[in-house]
Amino acid sequence: KSRARLSLAGDSKVTLKDVAGLKEEKEDLQEIVDFLRDPGKFTKVGARIPKGVLLEGPPGTGKTLLAKAIAGEANVPFFSISGSDFVEMFVGVGASRVRDLFEEAKKNAPCIVFIDEIDAVARRRGTGMGGGHDEREQTLNQMLVEMDGFAANAGIIVMAATNRVDILDPAILRPGRFDRKIAVGLPDVGGREAILQVHAKNKPLGDNVDLKQIAQTTAGFTGADLENLLNEAAIVAAKDNRCFISQEDIKTAFVKVGIGTERKSRIISDKE
Ligand code: ATP
Repeated sequence: KSRARLSLAGDSKVTLKDVAGLKEEKEDLQEIVDFLRDPGKFTKVGARIPKGVLLEGPPGTGKTLLAKAIAGEANVPFFSISGSDFVEMFVGVGASRVRDLFEEAKKNAPCIVFIDEIDAVARRRGTGMGGGHDEREQTLNQMLVEMDGFAANAGIIVMAATNRVDILDPAILRPGRFDRKIAVGLPDVGGREAILQVHAKNKPLGDNVDLKQIAQTTAGFTGADLENLLNEAAIVAAKDNRCFISQEDIKTAFVKVGIGTERKSRIISDKE
């Protein structure tokens, strides 16, 4: 059986308004939403609908969130699986998992199939590092067979995410496969403020909190980092028995989060 997690239509409460910033990315993906809602509108005029969309960018920038939001917005089921789940020790398991996944998807179309860490499967052939190499190739081949196998108007959109687009096998980028590539980058200052606002929604903030200023001092932070920052700030406030988060709490959290990263990199470099 496939290890994919399935969320049915309506299960996912995530929609595009939960994705802050990423304006161009969202605009690019709007046509996928439109297609899932009304495929006939496109096929009627002979438009070739994309089968696959590759989301490329650093970890924590909202690729999974975007894919989920597309499903939520179009109100279709969402299948998600990680590329590393396909890579198994037992020969043939990966390929049969891919087959099962697409079979399920066809039964549930229109739907979105989301493959996180696609690079685990779709690394350029011949760059394997020893063990499991043939197995991975078989899995990749099966994925290509499946993608070529369903019609463009079958109502299945395969979205995949990677932060290593440079090591992907070019075969997966051919027309009829992942022929749409969307770069999901680090948020700029406006994006960071918008992300902070989204994650501050369920958190009581003190009057002195200035999210704009926080956004200005968090260059290089991803959406996931910002979410984590506010969560740490909430923990600081709770420990202090307060029922709101102050600007100082966010600053304390900032130091903690910053020191955390510093410590991690020190440990890594100690090992080398
Ligand atoms: P990975 O490559 O590690 O899978 P990813 O790019 O898929 O990362 P997500 O899992 O989508 O990143 O993001 C992690 C979390 O960070 C989200 O659940 C969300 O809380 C927050 N986040 C990231 N980007 C945004 C954004 N643009 N708007 C709101 N929240 C965001």
